[in-house]
Amino acid sequence: MKPLTGMVRQASAANMAAMGSYQSRSVSLTAANIPMARYGGRHTVTMMPGDGIGPEMMSYVKEVYKHAGAPVDFELVTLDPNTDNYDDLYNAIASVKRNGCGIKGNIETQMNRPDIKSRNVEMRNELDLYVNRIHCQSQSGIKTRHDDIDVVIMRQNTEGEYAMLEHESVGGVVESLKIITEESTERLCRYSFEWARANGRKKVTLVHKANIMKITDGMFMQVAKRVSQDYPELEHDNMIIDNCCMQLVSNPWQFDVMILTNLYGTIVTNLICGLIGGPGVISGANVGPRYAVFEPATRNTGNSLAGMNKANPCAMLNASADLLDHLNLDYHAKLIRDAVHTTVNVDKIHTEDLHGQATSIDVVQNVLNHIKAATK
Ligand code: ATP
Repeated sequence: MKPLTGMVRQASAANMAAMGSYQSRSVSLTAANIPMARYGGRHTVTMMPGDGIGPEMMSYVKEVYKHAGAPVDFELVTLDPNTDNYDDLYNAIASVKRNGCGIKGNIETQMNRPDIKSRNVEMRNELDLYVNRIHCQSQSGIKTRHDDIDVVIMRQNTEGEYAMLEHESVGGVVESLKIITEESTERLCRYSFEWARANGRKKVTLVHKANIMKITDGMFMQVAKRVSQDYPELEHDNMIIDNCCMQLVSNPWQFDVMILTNLYGTIVTNLICGLIGGPGVISGANVGPRYAVFEPATRNTGNSLAGMNKANPCAMLNASADLLDHLNLDYHAKLIRDAVHTTVNVDKIHTEDLHGQATSIDVVQNVLNHIKAATK
């Protein structure tokens, strides 16, 4: 561990200087520094429905934006999960680069084709969306084992265990590379601490497995410790991932902001979303220095629910409100978020995943009724 500590410290000053240019851009979700497409005063945003329930969720987003009067046009980009090439994908990436931001459903990856990369991962990498930020907050109208959970997950979104570098070195022996860079870890940590400070949070917990992955997770942990020194008002601790999972189910209130590697991040995201209502409620933001893409927090495809009018639309509607925040359309964002919040927590119009009997359309109609009432 010692030589690594030295290496990390030596590289620190240079990296901090190099990071200066993107810190300010990456910390805030405002679009101030990003040249957005705004034809005739309207924003153009890339819409990628993906597979499963994605297309129907996007139709609800369009309906809700229309009623909220959000000045946004969508550039619809479809991706075929069955193609052998990445033409669709690079077309989608070019569209997000042109427009500055997008909203997406999950794009299926064929499990039986190791030569085909995950399009979701490739897109995050190509757009340098290095943080997946998810605010997991209990909903008072959803009955769960624990109340009052309020945790923000900052997941590394472009490297780590998702490097997609796997091979069979000799027959029967397979290897998978976990790539952690000091630069990406530092910007993730800095983004997280800055966000915690700007949003009045108290504690940042780094989650790791450095007792086993001493070099990779060891560096992840050391960089966070170093960055934390610039934020003396924030408590900083770290926790091993397995204990973290146990603590989350027994005492989730001890967590505030969490920083995790890519794989631990997705596991913990699913765990916490499960604690507060499942896959249909919470949204997540993928953020980088230039671009941002919004989607449901747990990134499910929901194949078996597709076309059945049963899926919970709230996660995608909340993602659409996050997108409006990103565009500085605060009024429209609040209109939609409040309407979804009231539908879930006051009116308690719940789909089956929340043990209710409402259809997707019942939920959307209720959201639209609130928007209509608020804009009369
Ligand atoms: P499925 O099991 O529906 O075929 P899948 O195998 O692709 O989907 P995921 O997409 O990972 O699985 O979804 C995990 C679980 O969460 C599934 O049971 C799915 O039906 C459920 N789910 C996903 N999204 C929603 C949603 N918006 N509303 C309700 N349930 C959902």
